[in-house]
Amino acid sequence: MAPSSPTKIGVIGSGLMGSALARAFASAGHEVAVWNRTPSKAKAVGGGTVAVENLLEALSGRELVVVSLSNYAAWSELFSSAGVASALAGTTLVQLTSGSPGDAREALEWAKSNGVDYLDAAILAYPSFVATDAATVFYAGPRPVFDRHLGTLQAIAKNSIYVDEKIGSAAALDCAILEAYYGGSLAFLHAAAMCEAEGLDPKTFFAHKNSFLGLISVTADAAQSMIERNDFSGGQCSLNTHVAALEHIVRLSKDARMSARFPKELLDNYKRAVSAGLGNKELPAVFRTLTQD
Ligand code: NAP
Repeated sequence: MAPSSPTKIGVIGSGLMGSALARAFASAGHEVAVWNRTPSKAKAVGGGTVAVENLLEALSGRELVVVSLSNYAAWSELFSSAGVASALAGTTLVQLTSGSPGDAREALEWAKSNGVDYLDAAILAYPSFVATDAATVFYAGPRPVFDRHLGTLQAIAKNSIYVDEKIGSAAALDCAILEAYYGGSLAFLHAAAMCEAEGLDPKTFFAHKNSFLGLISVTADAAQSMIERNDFSGGQCSLNTHVAALEHIVRLSKDARMSARFPKELLDNYKRAVSAGLGNKELPAVFRTLTQD
């Protein structure tokens, strides 16, 4: 259903993600102009969007400008070109390019010095998830600016979550979730490779997916509570015992002549906590040794 008053939106970047975002806004009934460095890709977005070749035309007179480029360096180079700041007068800039909290802080400095309202966002979705319940977008910046645009922004993700006024907070949460995802994925891929190296079909391991996912979930809950209380004692399993288990994993990897780099790195981290005197504490005590280099 078309919104009662369509929002004029410029979407900068017609890559895989930018194209999906632009089509989602258009399909919700908004007026969407798309711009891309390579104009043919902007023309291919379709779905009721209008491709424009002039960047300033894509920015001028929009209530929202949504940016989805490869990185902040590309955004910074593009938005420092002549006429961009004045074309953005009265517009809210929503940065959906992925980056670090430091990138977000630099972008806010630019927005402030050019009088532009700025929200820094992080999308947790593949392009095919956009506009479905599987998409989540985190936002950081001034709450009133977020509230003003929430109705429009929900076209890309109903699950549009305000994190904090601190401009780096959406990127920080995104990096944290992605680290857990990449680290967890590497761990289960190494685990499957260990099974294969020992002549065990990896599907036997994957059949027990719920065992390791369940353990991670229970440990995450315990970690949250222990970190809050700053008390890592408990009667379940000491770090000393966990280190012994990790040593078995390193030995298996070496015996099977496969890469032991990943379990060795894990072992080093857990051993560091033991060396710091935490050997009789529970596993989440490693947290204490991770806040310093
Ligand atoms: P992509 O398909 O590679 O698109 C990259 C876009 O950036 C293209 O429009 C490209 O223009 C543009 N670009 C790169 N350098 C530029 C420059 N110097 N000046 C102007 N434009 C430049 O990447 P994507 O998958 O859409 O990702 C876009 C952003 O979304 C990234 O920050 C990514 O981390 C984030 N993201 C993506 C996903 C995903 O699943 N794809 C998920 C979450 C977040 P040209 O077409 O001219 O090269």
